[in-house]
Amino acid sequence: MGLKVAVLGITHESNTFVKEHTTLCQFREGHWMKGETLLNEYRSAFHELGGMIEVLEEEGMEIVPVMYAEATPGGMVSKVTYETLLQELFTALDSALPVDGCLVVPHGAGVSELFRDMDGHWLSLVREKLGDRIPVIGTLDPHGNVSNQMVTSTNALVAYKTNPHIDQRETGRLAAKLLVNTLKKKIKPLQHLIQLPLAISIEQQFTGKAPCKNLYALADALSQQQGVLSISIMLGFPYADVEEMGSSVIVVTDDEEQLAISTGKMLEAYMMAHKQEFVGLKQDIQDLFPTIEKSEKPVLLLDMGDNVGGGAPANSAYLLKALEGYGRFRSFICLYDPAAVQLAISHTAGDIFDMVTGNPEDITMSYTGRVKLLYTGDGKFKETAPRHGGQVNFDMGKIALVVTSGGNTIMLTSLRVPPFSLKQLTAFNVIPEDFDVLVAKGVNAPIAAYTTVCKTLLQVNTPGVTCADMTRFNYNNRRKPIFPFEEI
Ligand SMILES: [Zn+2]
Repeated sequence: MGLKVAVLGITHESNTFVKEHTTLCQFREGHWMKGETLLNEYRSAFHELGGMIEVLEEEGMEIVPVMYAEATPGGMVSKVTYETLLQELFTALDSALPVDGCLVVPHGAGVSELFRDMDGHWLSLVREKLGDRIPVIGTLDPHGNVSNQMVTSTNALVAYKTNPHIDQRETGRLAAKLLVNTLKKKIKPLQHLIQLPLAISIEQQFTGKAPCKNLYALADALSQQQGVLSISIMLGFPYADVEEMGSSVIVVTDDEEQLAISTGKMLEAYMMAHKQEFVGLKQDIQDLFPTIEKSEKPVLLLDMGDNVGGGAPANSAYLLKALEGYGRFRSFICLYDPAAVQLAISHTAGDIFDMVTGNPEDITMSYTGRVKLLYTGDGKFKETAPRHGGQVNFDMGKIALVVTSGGNTIMLTSLRVPPFSLKQLTAFNVIPEDFDVLVAKGVNAPIAAYTTVCKTLLQVNTPGVTCADMTRFNYNNRRKPIFPFEEI
């Protein structure tokens, strides 16, 4: 056996504008595992852990799969949950010591009730435990709001380069290669962080087109410089009221500080010069109906205000009501509503009954109507293609499919699941091509899956805790000045 490498991570994207905290229950319903189970779950997944495992195995390293915990994005992580995760993580790490290196998987936008910079905090504890001589290298989701503590606690952090995130496995491979080369003393990573006076709108974070496409092309060109090991464009996550909220750049070089600084500054200058392009369009559904009419079907409507991957509750019926009111399209929508599932389960297929669903806290996002039950059952499905998030196993709990009197199909779920896979439909005999409109509760993440059937993708400005217009939220902790909140 070669050198011994610990692999560990706590991944959560925390929306501080969501009232409810994320609890242990949500981590248990998500992906929380240790040891062989971790290796088996991720070895072939399009997830950074898959890429890390692959490289470490190729290099003949001894892998210690310490722990990985991930919950669906939601409110900030509760005190007891974070304490429990830390206790479990460090008990497992203690029993693995000594190790020669460590690969870490933070998200970058984790916020706990206890420590607002949750990722910076647990990474600093890993560093404290291992000491300065053991290299600690990891991956980041580009939606991370990067703190100095995250960077000073690690030797190198590398972010995915795509949104939707379909290069997670490759990013895990890069992190593992950097670690292996550091252990072999071929390189000495040095990283430099620049926090920009800019917050990029979630609406402009699709890397498949301008303005992000051009920005990533520039980063790619700069990556070709001798001595540059990695460049990470951190788009940022606007829905966290934390000091480090906003966009940033991390440059990793082979021990060349000036090169890291000058490269970062070039990217900063580019992003600030193009700041107006990073503001969203904010289109309303009523204005989009003519476009839907003339577009090839099915059309994908992205419900930006109820973005599950951004921590939203997944239960807004805002677009369902608009579509029902317009009355000219057959549409599909998925809503998280355990009580409505229970009601449906008490009926048999073909029954017609009254149902209230949607977000009970806001009349504009709730729905009341007569529905016909089509199906009830268990909501487990698998995704094996490269899709945003890189997960293989999904569980919606018990589900029900109903059709409204207006001909719109609703999938009701008992667990919150983001719309990252079309298997969420096809595994239950819902054929995407049968609809004029598919509603997905996200902004960019669903595109990887839905673009396989939808030629037209429309981001809709809808209400909710992930509303596209970030200037509508009240922040107490963010850095200032920062565009578009302040003029720069
Ligand atoms: Zn992300």
